[in-house]
Amino acid sequence: MVIIGAGHCGGRAALALRGMGWNGAITLIGEEAIPPYERPPLSKSVLAGQMEMTGMQLADSAAYQAADIRLRLDARVHAIDRITKTVALESGESIQYARLLLATGGSARQLSIPGATHPQVLSLRTHADAMQIKSHLNAGNRVILIGGGFIGLEVASTARDAGCTVDVIEGAPRLLGRAVPESIAARVLALHGKHGTQISLGSQPVEIRHPADGSLTLAFADGSSKAADLIVVGVGMLPRTELAKQSGLTVEQGIVVDKWLRTSDAAIFAAGDVCQFPSALSGALIRQETWHNAETQASVVAANMLGAEVNYIELPWFWSDQYDHTLQVCGEPGHGASSVTRQLEGDGILIFFLDAEGRLVGGSGFGQASAVTKDLKIMRKLVEKRALIAGELLQNPEQSLKKLLSSLGTT
Ligand code: FAD
Repeated sequence: MVIIGAGHCGGRAALALRGMGWNGAITLIGEEAIPPYERPPLSKSVLAGQMEMTGMQLADSAAYQAADIRLRLDARVHAIDRITKTVALESGESIQYARLLLATGGSARQLSIPGATHPQVLSLRTHADAMQIKSHLNAGNRVILIGGGFIGLEVASTARDAGCTVDVIEGAPRLLGRAVPESIAARVLALHGKHGTQISLGSQPVEIRHPADGSLTLAFADGSSKAADLIVVGVGMLPRTELAKQSGLTVEQGIVVDKWLRTSDAAIFAAGDVCQFPSALSGALIRQETWHNAETQASVVAANMLGAEVNYIELPWFWSDQYDHTLQVCGEPGHGASSVTRQLEGDGILIFFLDAEGRLVGGSGFGQASAVTKDLKIMRKLVEKRALIAGELLQNPEQSLKKLLSSLGTT
């Protein structure tokens, strides 16, 4: 069993293979120099200096040793030979596989404007990136975030809490692209505004200049400019499909897999951010960039690498923490034919998405974590059950969601 990518999904899959009783060799190859870790804290507690590396790791090196998993860190695979069933490392070594897992995740998308390669223009994907960004988050420093997506907004809130002056520059007319409904994006905008972050929507940076004083200047299409000490680019990620493409596997928006997470080669599987898999709701190919996806695909793919035929049927789920607020999306809101909004305490809101039959297929929610977390959990459970509930009941804040859930019984 060979796994390329010692990130969240690859690490979990290696541990699961051993946990499921596989006695043969397991090799986990990763380009980063540290054992597999979960990335969500990178933009939150790690950046805020509240969590150390050990708190994010799936297991320490001793645990991989005890499980007899060959952890090959600081090692990059540059080719797969599907005829000889070998993977070639950049070091010149090659490793044979019976089953291969591609868990290569993604890399931060770069900006293609002049000046974007300057060392004070950073992006956030790895622990090393987080350490570099953290070193600039000193009170009074001017930080510009390019991109009003989840990672940009999380870094904005952490930087603001650290006392930096923060600007978020977003090219679209609203935050968070189409990941959440406009009513939630508007509340997120208000939250950041309340905390003193300047957000510019519909704003197109054209160049990053480097004045002699060591600062940066971000220039815009309309001739205006903003000064900064640090620019963080958060404009999405690109799935790392290059090995799959080179070896002739089917690749579209990610490495295409079936419901068993098998690629177009039956000996090769793919899971996590890099794969495009059939949605349990619609059968359409979807790709997810979420903790839950990496976590749950890891155990399914491990079972299937060992010969089981387990369908991946989890519904998507994602969260983002900004200041004391949480935002969650579950199921597939895009699959909904209609939506119902429920107002919660303060600026809290839940939006339920129903299909043409009136079954719940997705939900988005936002609000102060202490006030909305329970309702968000119930919303997710209702969506998982694809519950058929009248819109008036979902909408009515007097109607307990907990009671609605328990009225559905255990089926
Ligand atoms: P990764 O964790 O990226 O692991 C892939 C690994 O493969 C990397 O270590 C890479 O170096 C390695 N690799 C790639 N190619 C090669 C090669 N050729 N040879 C050797 N190694 C290779 N999700 C949420 O649900 N909620 C959140 O709040 C949240 N916050 C996040 C914050 C940040 C800053 C980031 C970056 C992500 C966040 N996510 C969040 C998303 C979540 O962390 C990812 O979906 C998850 O890490 C994906 O796991 P993965 O194993 O597929 O990919």
